[in-house]
Amino acid sequence: MNSLSRRKFLKITGAAAGVAAAGSAALKATQRAGNTGPERGVRTVPTYCDICFWKCGTIAYVRDGKLWKVEGNPLDPLSNGRLCPRGTGGVGAHTDPDRLRAPLLRKRKRGEEVWVEVTWDEALDFIARKMQKIKSEYGPESMALFSHGIGGNFLKHTLKAYGTPNAAAPSFAQCRGPRDVGFRLTFGEDVSSPERTDIRNAKCIVLLGSHIGENMHNTQVQEFSDAVGNGASVIVADPRFSIAAGKAKYYLPVKPGTDIALLLAWMHILVKEELYDREYVSEHGFGFEQFAATLAPFTPEWAYPETGIDPELIRATAREMARYKPATLVHPGRHVTWYGDDAQRSRAIALLNALLGSWGRKGGFYAPVSMDVPAYPYPEYPKTVRGKADNPGHRYPFAHETITTGIREATISGSPYPIKGWMVYATNLLHALPNEQETIRAIQNLDLMVVIDVIPSEIAGWADVVLPEAIYLERHDDLNVEWFREPFIALRQPVVDAPHEQKPNWWIAKQLAMRLGLGSYFPWANIEEYLHHRLEAGGFSYEELKRDGIIRGKKQPVYYEEGLTPAFPTPSGKIEFYSLQLQQAGFDPVPAYKRPAEGPPGFYRLLYGRAPVHSFSRTHSNRILSDMMSENEVWVNTNTALRHELTNGEYIRLKNQDGVVSNRIRVKVTERIRPDCVYMVHGFGHTAKGLKHAFGKGASDAQMITRYTTDALMGGTAMNVNFVTFEPAEA
Ligand code: SF4
Repeated sequence: MNSLSRRKFLKITGAAAGVAAAGSAALKATQRAGNTGPERGVRTVPTYCDICFWKCGTIAYVRDGKLWKVEGNPLDPLSNGRLCPRGTGGVGAHTDPDRLRAPLLRKRKRGEEVWVEVTWDEALDFIARKMQKIKSEYGPESMALFSHGIGGNFLKHTLKAYGTPNAAAPSFAQCRGPRDVGFRLTFGEDVSSPERTDIRNAKCIVLLGSHIGENMHNTQVQEFSDAVGNGASVIVADPRFSIAAGKAKYYLPVKPGTDIALLLAWMHILVKEELYDREYVSEHGFGFEQFAATLAPFTPEWAYPETGIDPELIRATAREMARYKPATLVHPGRHVTWYGDDAQRSRAIALLNALLGSWGRKGGFYAPVSMDVPAYPYPEYPKTVRGKADNPGHRYPFAHETITTGIREATISGSPYPIKGWMVYATNLLHALPNEQETIRAIQNLDLMVVIDVIPSEIAGWADVVLPEAIYLERHDDLNVEWFREPFIALRQPVVDAPHEQKPNWWIAKQLAMRLGLGSYFPWANIEEYLHHRLEAGGFSYEELKRDGIIRGKKQPVYYEEGLTPAFPTPSGKIEFYSLQLQQAGFDPVPAYKRPAEGPPGFYRLLYGRAPVHSFSRTHSNRILSDMMSENEVWVNTNTALRHELTNGEYIRLKNQDGVVSNRIRVKVTERIRPDCVYMVHGFGHTAKGLKHAFGKGASDAQMITRYTTDALMGGTAMNVNFVTFEPAEA
């Protein structure tokens, strides 16, 4: 990383400096250790990161046999040779003294966290026996898998071979699902991950509650930093003055829950003043006249009392967006399960982009490409007799992935059929799903509850069997064949051995399959054989991938300007300004605004977000990362703090509208948040006994989220619908 870009990167992120060391000198000094005796010297291994799901290419350094440090792989287009602050803390995941060490079998009641260590054979035999029993008594569909990240691929394969279609990830119904549904309904395609946002070429970037720089998706932060450095105009609408807002030309402190009103007013101006991309809209749009007519009443003056945003500011920002079209990117966000109208809000964002002509255009949204690597030729999975359990009768007609909370509901109700076994991989469901009591109620109905993870998280505390996984620096995983601006393949490979009895997920999945009589689905002897086979079938060299960590493909056209043919796989084959499929399903064909419900007097809407040094609730026992941030704080507006006699830095507790009281949390008194809401970073306030280092530090937003509103289009669970007030810490 050159010094200028590194300085800009840290300036944007606000993260602690000095975590990542420059690597070129060390790379030159690299030497291979001998094959005998204790390992000496420095060696490097390319792999890809798993501190979050972004999968940045990494170079891991081993010095005298010990994991030393990790840096970005300069060959990797996601990291560009630079990791985010969390990624640089990867060594701390390996050395974490609180991590799971051996398979555990529950000794007492679920949730009491009393275990006995068992061998892998004992643990896997136990699970296989229980799974066979569930299959014979209830059918294979009665097992469900919850997973997060690429590491779940092999377990999904085992579960599909076993015969269940019920595999879900919180990344859909608790995160990006509404966004992808809103964009699919408009353009026929979703935003995918990593997002197809061409931030680095954007001339104007609009962020609605999207905390780039705090929400640390490495590539996006680097591109945002470059775009800001190149003079891009940034518009931020957010109840909180985020890090990104600090880079903005225009900051709009929008009232929480009123974003659709703001979006309608912006679109009203673009249409009324004929500032939209007329050629693009007339060539690619469907139903524009009806759409334009629907917008007529939504003037900035109409939006003002709803959003709190000055009509002239709404006009000025709409004109600013138009000035730079089509290189104006209204960012679709990622974690967008906020108020229950989230798919329609995301559709409004898609429509605003459509008016600006940014879909498929440079500085807007590129069309991602990928390498052609054939899947492994497995036998066909058994046909399931019953469909998935999460969405009976398609009550959420636009859900295109499995709804986690739908599986939870089926587990509680036994309808449309009983769910009797959960396998939970790398997702702390008690922090990821709203209303933890509902999750616990569901678990009580299970005959088998298995958790596979690297740390003893809260959800592991409710398992019958806990299986310790090797961390990403100790294991192979599936190939990362990413959809991105340019095609590439990345390899995850072990750098060091797991320190105890931990095993890689592929080994666990294979061993379990063998015990279930599903050996034909794992014809390969080990994962290297599997990886080799897939790469060879695609005409790629495994040796090259092992050496470099990355194989990059040829650049291809990714914008319409480069000759790419526009294609919109919607029912009309065009961009659907007016959606007949929504209308036919009984929904608004153009997004409509509904005023959000207020909280009780003296209560404030609870908003939550991310920190640049932590991922979800999974990194708080990592000593390197917790050293940078060991607890969260609650942001309270200065006037609100005065009213409640709160002082900056004091510990308090939060109490939500249902009387649930949080762990103690420090107050941050600030002008940087509206007076009608408070904000905290997600994932803190651990209650799992095994997380000794993180236990009781900060408060858990998940504990406060007892209520949620379900998105009628796709089953996403909106969580910014809870309100809190303040209690003394000693209460
Ligand atoms: S964004 Fe950060 S934590 Fe996530 S994969 Fe990249 S370097 Fe790792």
